[in-house]
Amino acid sequence: MEKKYLSVRGTSDFDSSQSLAFHNLTKKSRETLSLFGYDEIILPILEEAGLFAKGVGQTSDIVSKQMFKIQDKDTVLRPEGTAQVIRYYIQHSLFKQSDFHKFFYIGPMFRGERPQKGRFRQFHHIGVEAIGSDSVFLDAEVISLAMKILDTVGISQKELIINSLGCGKDKEKFSKRLFKDLSQKKNELCSNCQSRLARDPLRVLDCKKKTCKNIVSTLDLDNSCLCKECLYSFEKLLSLLNNLGVEYTYQPQLVRGLDYYTNTVFEIITSGLGAQDAIGAGGRYNNLVKFLGGPQTPAIGFALGVERILLLLNEQKQVNGLDVFIAVAEKDLYKDAFSLLNQLRGAGIISDCDYLNKSLKAQMRVAQKKASKFVIILGSQELLQQKVALKCMEDGSQEDVNLKDLPVKISKLLGKELKQC
Ligand SMILES: [Zn+2]
Ligand SMILES: [Zn+2]
Repeated sequence: MEKKYLSVRGTSDFDSSQSLAFHNLTKKSRETLSLFGYDEIILPILEEAGLFAKGVGQTSDIVSKQMFKIQDKDTVLRPEGTAQVIRYYIQHSLFKQSDFHKFFYIGPMFRGERPQKGRFRQFHHIGVEAIGSDSVFLDAEVISLAMKILDTVGISQKELIINSLGCGKDKEKFSKRLFKDLSQKKNELCSNCQSRLARDPLRVLDCKKKTCKNIVSTLDLDNSCLCKECLYSFEKLLSLLNNLGVEYTYQPQLVRGLDYYTNTVFEIITSGLGAQDAIGAGGRYNNLVKFLGGPQTPAIGFALGVERILLLLNEQKQVNGLDVFIAVAEKDLYKDAFSLLNQLRGAGIISDCDYLNKSLKAQMRVAQKKASKFVIILGSQELLQQKVALKCMEDGSQEDVNLKDLPVKISKLLGKELKQC
């Protein structure tokens, strides 16, 4: 027996229906992203491992457990987009071209850890990074954009949770307070959190283990670590969201597991997926550009998880129907079918046939399966008179049509504009 190959664990094959759903989702997202003035960029899948160790943080789950290294151990398949976009921004000195950039990207990301339900080795992000402005209006724009994309694609059941980590100083203050509070309950934390508590107490708030979650829920957290300016801008942001009609829940334990966040952090969650409930997340990262070797530049962004959104939409099977299927009554007519196909496709009519020598009846079944609107039946008798039979699949009516009139006739019936070829 020959070995059968299976897809790599944690990867998924999109069938034609899922591919259509994927394209519908990305098409609608692109429309909304352009509406808000964001420019698309397409960046490589491979990046240097160190970029994420530095940009995302050495103790983050992504870097410590999840990165997908390839044999050359300094290279990884990108695990997320933000550090990469900032690498791109710095490498090409984009700050010299303009002091404000709004980018978006749509593409695959990779994680190397053992896959589990709802977590994939390869998955897609729709991501946005707005670089160069510290305005709270931009925070409101970015958050409302994320919500708008989800609205547009049909995700109505969702909740926005939001918090502010404050500036670097506030974050440090919060971190110290957290360390003090959590140290008293250190023995109850999972082993991973016990070991990282001293280095990075904020990570404990992100831990998915039940014991740690329980302890976090007993902490009396609030925004008292924010300085006056940070508190003011957070309150301003909330009022801007109110004005935009964007509903949110303030959640002081929300920190997001990446080093680069400062001030605004947010997540969009849904109950539709069970435990793995975030479909999007983002925040402000005012120190990352500097930290990765660029000039001090404030920025904010988010990423939406495409697979999770598709799972939620769980759309009905979609078929890209044909305009016309060409059936042949005798197999030596494939030559005529082939040239007619070419002519119809040239006129912009979506058409197909099969080359399987099936019976006419079997070909009609294929036409039905392919959701074809019309079938052209080629018979040698009719072809002698330069005619074919055109059957409408909706009402079953059939008529003979002159070969040369076909493209115009079908275009008219379809309500399509005839492409001049
Ligand atoms: Zn502050
Ligand atoms: Zn833990």
